This record gives sequence, C-alpha cells and structure tokens, in this order.
Amino acid sequence: MARVAIVTGGTRGIGRAICEALKADGMTVVANYAGNEEKARAFTEETGIAAYKWDVGDHQATMDGCARVMDEVGPIDVLVNNAGITRDGTLMKMSFEDWNDVVRINLGGCFNMAKACFEGMRDRKWGRIVNIGSINGQAGQYGQVNYAAAKSGIHGFTKALAQEGARFGVTVNAIAPGYIDTDMVAAVPENVLEKIVARIPVGRLGHADEIARGVSFLASEDGGFITGSTLSINGGQHMY
Ligand code: NDP
Repeated sequence: MARVAIVTGGTRGIGRAICEALKADGMTVVANYAGNEEKARAFTEETGIAAYKWDVGDHQATMDGCARVMDEVGPIDVLVNNAGITRDGTLMKMSFEDWNDVVRINLGGCFNMAKACFEGMRDRKWGRIVNIGSINGQAGQYGQVNYAAAKSGIHGFTKALAQEGARFGVTVNAIAPGYIDTDMVAAVPENVLEKIVARIPVGRLGHADEIARGVSFLASEDGGFITGSTLSINGGQHMY
C-alpha cells in the first residue's frame, strides 16, 4: 500500500513542488490550502492531486479536515507542515492581528496538524513529519518579529516532538529554506530583493523543487535515523 502524505499549503509554491516530489516517490498525496480556488483548481487539474480547503490555524477546522482526509483517502503516514504567511512590519507598525495571524497559522498550524496526525502514526509505528521553518527563524529578520518568532518556534516544536515520536518510529524534522522564488518572495520589493540576492553565496534565489528534494529524503524509508534535525537549504546564506 502506498504511503499517504498530506502537504499543508500544497497547491502552490514550495508546497506544490513537495506534493509533486512525494507523488513521484510513489506516495498517495493530498494537498491542503486556505482559499485561493483558482490556484487549487489548476493544481488538481495539472497534477491529479486532490486539494482540501481549511485554515490550518483553526484547530477544529483542522481536526475535521484531517478526519475527512483519513476517511476518504486513508491513514496519514507523512505530514508536511508547509502552510505559511507573512505580515511584515517593524514592531512599532505591526498590529496585534498581524502578530497573531502569523503565529496562529505558521506555528499553530503545526500544532493543529500534529494533533490530528501524530496519534495514528504512533499507533502504526511509522510516521514522518517535516516542518518548513525558515532562515529567518534561525537568524531573525528586520521587520519580521512575528514571522521570525513563529518560524523559530517551529524549530523548537520539531525537536520536542521528535523526542516524543522517536520510540514509535515517527521522525520529526525541519527544513529551513533560504529565499526561494515563489509568490511569497515576489511580494518583496525589487530593491530589497536585489540586496538579499547579493548576500546569497551561490548568487541566486533557490527553486521550490530544491526544497522538495530535501522533504522527499526526510520522508523516505531511508530517513529513519534522522530525527529532530533541521536541514538548511539556503545557498550558503546562513551557516552554523
Ligand atoms: P506561498 O505564499 O507561495 O504559498 C503558501 C501556501 O500556503 C498556499 O498554498 C496557501 O493557500 C497556503 N496557506 C496560507 N495560509 C494558510 C492557512 N491558514 N491554511 C492553509 N493553507 C494556507 O508560500 P511559499 O511556497 O513561498 O512558502 C511555503 C512555506 O515555506 C511557508 O511556510 C513559508 O513561510 C516557507 N518559506 C518560504 C520561503 C521563500 O523564500 N518562499 C523562505 C523560507 C520559508 P492559498 O493558495 O489557498 O492561499
């Protein structure tokens, strides 16, 4: 039986590349998304992968959505927590809503999805959870106290849950992408982006499929001895 994988925010950008990579690995893949119906429809038409809509920052909606996926597709073996948003601004200009939405969706989404999926993985003694963090959660970033805090939290969440899953064959890892050429980065002003690219040793933005390959490996059978780790895929922009 093919493993079942769910990728949150899977209908575009990095998530879409992850869906396609896991499908190519032979998994039965489903994507989740927030509400961009046009992208979701195009995604399903082009990839043949089903897309389910709910807000991962909403606890009950996530529990209900995952129950529906398990009912219609099967028990979830692989969870990729990829859904994320930015609401940038300096602390003085950032509203409480901008803080709260970013933490609720980026970090709270990981908790909600894990609550829905972890127990089944543990009971079946096999599971893979891959959380998409960020270079900006490792290094911080001007104008992103909300996003940096949420992504940094993901790295702590990963290490803590890895300890709970280890004895049950459930690995939990994170990937910290650098700057990748998706819609999220397209929103960065061009003059700011030029300065960012100048700081990337390989001299370019990353591609979504370069993140997807990392997920594919961590989600594979071969990844069973890797847990609690963070794989940085950032063109050398942040090394430690
Ligand atoms: P995009 O903005 O291109 O895509 C975001 C995806 O997440 C969409 O599918 C969107 O759905 C979904 N999404 C947003 N909010 C929710 C929500 N509340 N519930 C469910 N799904 C949601 O993002 P990227 O592909 O660029 O980023 C993917 C991940 O990688 C994010 O976690 C991001 O923080 C992280 N990352 C990205 C970097 C980059 O340079 N691009 C760098 C480092 C980390 P919909 O289409 O319906 O809106």
